[in-house]
Formats: sequence, structure tokens, C-alpha cells
Amino acid sequence: MVAPRLRSRSYIKKKITTPGGRKTVHYKKKNVSYARCGSCNRLLLGVPRTRVAKLRKSQRVPNRPYGGNLCTPCTRSLIKEQARG
Ligand SMILES: [Zn+2]
Repeated sequence: MVAPRLRSRSYIKKKITTPGGRKTVHYKKKNVSYARCGSCNRLLLGVPRTRVAKLRKSQRVPNRPYGGNLCTPCTRSLIKEQARG
């Protein structure tokens, strides 16, 4: 029996034949879901579907205010609204 934490459906099970000929199961965490805009629920571009810790800082989210949280049109309209008061 595998460890209790590996019995979750959030893991991908992959059957692998080792170099020695044994058959084992490797467990891997599933990818995260697509990032969506917090305002209009549109898919966010430039935000990868991987776990963040593996990536360089420049590969994580767009480097601008609300990057990774709001889409471009929503960010633009929000900043305009804030500037106009
Ligand atoms: Zn949006």
C-alpha cells in the first residue's frame, strides 16, 4: 500500500518499467488549472500552468500591476478609473 498522501486523485499515476525490469508506479502532481481574470473570468495569457516553484521569476506572471490576476483590458480600465477618480 502506498503512503496515504499518494492515494489522492490530485496525483497522476504513471506505470513505469525500471531499468532493472521491475514495474513500479510513479506519482506526479497534476498541473494547476488555467489562470483566469478576477473580474471578467477570461483566460489569462502569459501565466503558465505549472507549479510556480520550478520556474524563473520572469517566467511566472506578467511583470505589471495586477499581472496574473486581471486581464489586460480589465487592468487598463481599472487604472484609468483610478486616475480619473
Ligand atoms: Zn478581465
